[in-house]
Amino acid sequence: MTELSLRGLTKRFGNHTAVDDVTLDVPDGSFICLLGPSGCGKTTLLRLLAGLEEPTAGEVSVAGQDQTNVPPEKREFGMVFQSLALFPHLSVADNVAYPLSIRGRPRAESRKRADELLAQVQLAGMGDRRIHQLSGGQRQRVAIARGLAIEPKVFLLDEPLSALDANLREQMQVELRQLQQRLGVTTVVVTHDQKEALTMADIVIVMDKGRVQQVGAPMEVYRDPANAFVAGFIGTSNLLPCELTDASSLTLSGQRLALDPADRVKCSPGQPAVLSVRPEDTRLGPAGEGLEARVVFIRDLGESTQFVLDHDGTEITALYAPDARSDLKVDDRVGLGFVPGKRVVLPA
Ligand code: ATP
Repeated sequence: MTELSLRGLTKRFGNHTAVDDVTLDVPDGSFICLLGPSGCGKTTLLRLLAGLEEPTAGEVSVAGQDQTNVPPEKREFGMVFQSLALFPHLSVADNVAYPLSIRGRPRAESRKRADELLAQVQLAGMGDRRIHQLSGGQRQRVAIARGLAIEPKVFLLDEPLSALDANLREQMQVELRQLQQRLGVTTVVVTHDQKEALTMADIVIVMDKGRVQQVGAPMEVYRDPANAFVAGFIGTSNLLPCELTDASSLTLSGQRLALDPADRVKCSPGQPAVLSVRPEDTRLGPAGEGLEARVVFIRDLGESTQFVLDHDGTEITALYAPDARSDLKVDDRVGLGFVPGKRVVLPA
């Protein structure tokens, strides 16, 4: 069932189009990540959903009901802002209960609900503390609990974890996802961090310059990027200019490369093209077999080893299990190959 539906949603600021004709259906209970570089329009899109921005064109509906002219406080949306916007003069429980008290709910009922939510976000017993007595991660949890206070139909979060250090951030990604799964609330999170999006989302929406570039499950956008922007933005991708000779082969640096039926080809022969290959799908053989490349840097990352190579001026990254290629060192010449079936040919 579709919970949230966007039709031709557009927002212009003067002659700048921040959100450009976005049409999407978000299934009930799903976790969506809006992902894209700074300035691509993620926050503006979230604010359009919340009713905090008025669209230049298009509409938003929830469970089939048009929301376009419904003011933000009447939309049953919960929101967590990047700044958190917690009230320092209120206790933790009063912060969480705030959306209920402004809706005139009785104090005892609101407090009970706040305590339940604080338990959900692992802050049981902390209701009487002040915000300044909490750590960054605990404040984040208070903001999440407050966003859920009204039992929202849709939960909207703008870069909710961006202020946290790397370890806590990874822990909170898992917690937020588990909380969302327990509650089953349709959730839309803005992030510029692709790892965060791949960790949490059922569906990733990749945006660039106000436009949706691809909508898909995390593994789909990773394995089967719709275009070179998505391939380059999600994970590490090796992008090599090439020419599609016919439906079953391409020419790369003057060498002909036969394609496998499982390789994905998204452009036509004659069109400027790039070959996209993930680091884990590259193979380094002896010099003379495959494309010529030179090792320029080796990064031992503990759980894996990354080889940075130069092929004809293009930087290529290859990934191996630790110690799998202890034979290689900087400046070695190798033959670069790609795993058949894992290659994607995209319009340049
Ligand atoms: P970030 O990750 O940096 O927050 P974003 O993807 O969330 O970026 P938005 O904040 O949605 O991007 O901004 C999209 C574009 O719209 C930007 O070019 C921004 O400068 C512009 N923009 C956003 N809000 C306004 C506004 N109120 N007035 C004018 N321009 C705006």
